[in-house]
Amino acid sequence: MRVPDPFSISKTPRMRPAVVALGSNLGDRGELLRSAVAALREAPGVVVDAVSPVVESIAVKLDGVDPDAPRYLNAVALVRTLLPPHELLDELQRIEAEHGRVRTERWGDRTLDLDLVDYDGLEASDDRLTLPHPRAGLRSFVLAPWLAVDPDAVLPGRGRVDRLLQALGDDTAPVPEVTL
Ligand code: AMP
Repeated sequence: MRVPDPFSISKTPRMRPAVVALGSNLGDRGELLRSAVAALREAPGVVVDAVSPVVESIAVKLDGVDPDAPRYLNAVALVRTLLPPHELLDELQRIEAEHGRVRTERWGDRTLDLDLVDYDGLEASDDRLTLPHPRAGLRSFVLAPWLAVDPDAVLPGRGRVDRLLQALGDDTAPVPEVTL
């Protein structure tokens, strides 16, 4: 019996919108984010349409916020892509690896974290990828920069990003001296 693919999208290639969240809390965080955006611009089949302002946020670990961990710089990129979702995730993980991301502790400190927040409104999950990103609606460091570049943004299945952020509260701080 054929198992339906939860990510099945039409086979006709077309540019689809996606939202990528970027974060860094180790090393030269601004330079790492800048370099990650440059790598995203060079990724095959990916066009970067907009990059948000940079914000700073307190690290979130498995057991909650960790004020003693280095703070994150975060931003969000709006892209269009010809790549199917898992191939876009491959590209994000390649860029993470190129920027020294080593997976040691789950939710640990990292030079670069790239998350696929939304892919063309898709709601689907398998062992590698969950869309939309399951924690995006709980993270003001994703919602605030996303809203800054798309005032009408919607998190699929959860609602408008402005309302989600209002309900959650914004605990990010702007970092205007770092531009991407
Ligand atoms: P993290 O350490 O938080 O970056 O999590 C990385 C893991 O989450 C990888 O094994 C990915 O396969 C998985 N993952 C599941 N859904 C997503 C998503 N929407 N964006 C990025 N990684 C995801």
